[in-house]
Amino acid sequence: MLQDGRDARATIQAGSLCYFAYAMKVATHDLPQAHEHDQGHQAVPSDPSLRVKALESLLVEKGLVDPAALDALIDAYENKIGPRNGARVVARSWVDPAYKERLLTDATKAIEELGYGGRGGQHMVAVENTPKVHNLVVCTLCSCYPWTVLGLPPVWYKSAPYRSRAVIDPRGLLLEFGLKLGEDVEVRVWDSTAELRYLVLPERPPGSEQLGEEALAALVTRDAMIGVARVTMPPPESHS
Ligand code: FE
Repeated sequence: MLQDGRDARATIQAGSLCYFAYAMKVATHDLPQAHEHDQGHQAVPSDPSLRVKALESLLVEKGLVDPAALDALIDAYENKIGPRNGARVVARSWVDPAYKERLLTDATKAIEELGYGGRGGQHMVAVENTPKVHNLVVCTLCSCYPWTVLGLPPVWYKSAPYRSRAVIDPRGLLLEFGLKLGEDVEVRVWDSTAELRYLVLPERPPGSEQLGEEALAALVTRDAMIGVARVTMPPPESHS
């Protein structure tokens, strides 16, 4: 959970220029979809894509970054990896108690069992929601996120208001996301780092008892695995 006195420099790893360039690209990739939390709080540089391009050109020119490798990395996270990986992990844990036990004991290994691993997912911890405990994930320092299971982070996850309010007023923040928690529910906030990233294991929704693993995975959303939403059953189809 949250710890004070963390050294910001510890999250800046040596030799991470390629990651930095990638992160800059990702940071600007989804700016047009900025969440309302961003508005009025963060000044967006006048032309961020230009700045990123300039930075990338400089890194390429100095031989620090291979542009082909950068493009491959971006393509992988944009098109091949997404929250569906995490959804499959959650669904498996709902139908297989032994897998769930392994996930809660050593998430990194359990996630690897399903074939997911790599950058951003090396050290994973799964935290389970129950009727009495709700988990919320944030990176107070920057935007550390379990890319391997959730793909690219949403813009609001990286915003200063989300990062601060998740700590100062998590219940109020969750209300803004439309999630009202009872007073008897304990909220646990987990602060991600470059070394340690969290996946929320949401509660299986009531009424889903008959669903198979694949159908269950289809219900699981990115937001539920960050902890800002519940997993719900779709409304029954109307037969008019
Ligand atoms: Fe971070």
